[in-house]
Amino acid sequence: MRCHICDEPTLMFMDQKQQMLYHHCRDCEYIFKHPSVYQDLAEQKARYDLHENEEESEGYRAYFQRFLDFVLPLVQNPKSALDFGCGESILLSCMLEEQGIACDYYDPLYHPEGLSDDKKYDLIVSTEVFEHLHQPREVFESLMKRLNVGGFLAIQTEFHPNEMGAFMHWYYTKDPTHIVFFTAKTFEVLSDLSKCRFVDDNGKNMLVIKKK
Ligand SMILES: [Zn+2]
Repeated sequence: MRCHICDEPTLMFMDQKQQMLYHHCRDCEYIFKHPSVYQDLAEQKARYDLHENEEESEGYRAYFQRFLDFVLPLVQNPKSALDFGCGESILLSCMLEEQGIACDYYDPLYHPEGLSDDKKYDLIVSTEVFEHLHQPREVFESLMKRLNVGGFLAIQTEFHPNEMGAFMHWYYTKDPTHIVFFTAKTFEVLSDLSKCRFVDDNGKNMLVIKKK
């Protein structure tokens, strides 16, 4: 199977314990579960509904604050933003509003009405979304179209260890709705392919890309 990001051939490997077949691209470091295990939206929602709504908790605010502390110094005072794939909670968009940034939010399951095709943004944020996407390159490109020229896309998704032994023990793959896995390099390749500029990453789970 070819890589869904860079179209190079991938290597297959089996996680025996999980009984899960993976594809690994050596070129862009993208790893994806075999598409036969991908779930439709209804199945995914059943799992997301189990997540506790922690909107009021200080811990949840602190979690998003760490993301904003990384992102906001890199994105040149945006006036408008979109939280893409916010889930049930709109806390992150509220926190952006508190920074004086007008923020829309969208989620295909919980807030499907939030997206307008003729509106563009200075900043799009997407936290803990990309690991769920069946076709992340298509979503990435569609988000780029929703950015103003010079706008920024900021993503949070855990970077995989890119080493098989460590990968097999990695907690992040155990969630059945987590199906595709990235490193910063995957997003660098994706940026090049989409004629964007990779700005920076935190070496762990956050990155910022600029639309040229
Ligand atoms: Zn690839």
